[in-house]
Amino acid sequence: ASLEQIRSVETEINSYVTLDEEGALKQAGEVQKKIDSGELTGPLAGVPAAIKDNICMEGMLTTCSSKILGNFLPPYTAEAVLNLKKAGAVILGKTNMDEFAMGSTTETSAFGITRNPWNLNHVPGGSSGGSCGAVAAGECFYALGSDTGGSIRQPSSFCGVTGLKPTYGTVSRYGLVAYGSSLDQIGPVAKDVTDCAAILEAIASYDSKDSTSLNREDTEFTSALKDEIKGMKIGIPRDYLGEGLEQDVKTSVLAAAKALEEKGALVEEFDLSLVEYAIPAYYVIACAEASSNLARFDGVKYGYRSKEFEGLHQMYKKSRSEGFGPEVKRRIMLGSFVLSSGYYDAYYLKALRTKALIKQAFDRAFETYDVILGPAAPTTAPEIGKSLRDPLKMYLGDIYTVSVNLAGLPAMTLPCGLDAKGLPIGLQLIGDCFQEKKILQAAYAYE
Ligand code: GLN
Repeated sequence: ASLEQIRSVETEINSYVTLDEEGALKQAGEVQKKIDSGELTGPLAGVPAAIKDNICMEGMLTTCSSKILGNFLPPYTAEAVLNLKKAGAVILGKTNMDEFAMGSTTETSAFGITRNPWNLNHVPGGSSGGSCGAVAAGECFYALGSDTGGSIRQPSSFCGVTGLKPTYGTVSRYGLVAYGSSLDQIGPVAKDVTDCAAILEAIASYDSKDSTSLNREDTEFTSALKDEIKGMKIGIPRDYLGEGLEQDVKTSVLAAAKALEEKGALVEEFDLSLVEYAIPAYYVIACAEASSNLARFDGVKYGYRSKEFEGLHQMYKKSRSEGFGPEVKRRIMLGSFVLSSGYYDAYYLKALRTKALIKQAFDRAFETYDVILGPAAPTTAPEIGKSLRDPLKMYLGDIYTVSVNLAGLPAMTLPCGLDAKGLPIGLQLIGDCFQEKKILQAAYAYE
């Protein structure tokens, strides 16, 4: 069914960078045998899925939607994908994204844009726009995305699907091409809350190959799917409802809060504070880490190498100049600048201090509230071609998502209505560290 849907809509949507039709059918056959013999019984057995193209799979192109990795065949598979395979997943292929996960629209991909299945003139969001577009268009039943500063939650919101960013350390980053290593997490993009819980349960695991991996014992996330939220305390940051938030988004998000209140939750507004510092702190830290992480793409070890050069230094220079796109170059320059001696204290160190204060503000909030509720993004999906012209404005669109990564928290988005143009609006639920079950419970009760 997924392959049939891909055949009928993929030329318009362009969710996939690589499709592995033959491999998927072969996997399906093997999984079917294991289901028949009773070896595989879980909910994911035989269900077709797609993987964001910054997550490695042995022998399958992993491009990060960049020319510099256009021919990269990884020699190993990411731990999260291995976990899915153990659960019987059938992998259809790799999904499009903003180059190296840098962007909010999937327009910075070197392999063409992905279109929003709800309205082909609009972007699907980003950077996991291919994963979210594929789920929304029925080109797979679920997908994996990655979230460094909202890249699962914002495109899920724009595409009317459900996405979850786990507590930092819950899903192994082994095999995820690093963007901002202290912020990156892999997570599920799915059709509903139940699917999200089941997928997270499958991919969460301790992994000694990731030095930041956590050994959690509370990963039976599907046990949280109870339609019961009496007495749950939900806080709405007043700072999330101010300037820049589109009226339709605000109305739908507040209506969702009301619905939860009617089911017995205690809902109130509060001041989270420091919200205006989240974007500057995030972009300093993310770019700093990116500039360091992307140093490995030099034309020697991986991917693209310039055809003509004289000497080693020119080879580096030309390979990187020709291989990286403009948004990636902008971030490497920003990151190198904030890390350079003389500026380190003024920018990078200050951003790290701000990050600590943001974490404290959340800690204080979670002394009172079980779950924080707000929008996922200030607007619905913008039209294609409107965002990249003004990168600063595009960065400001990450206002409600990036602080979650700075604080390492779990958060999810799920659909809560449509705007006047008929585009989906996303509700964001944020939990304290390790409290995925609380946000899943609230989400399930709302859904
Ligand atoms: N818009 C954010 C950025 O460009 C999203 C990053 C992400 O989560 N991968 O940095």
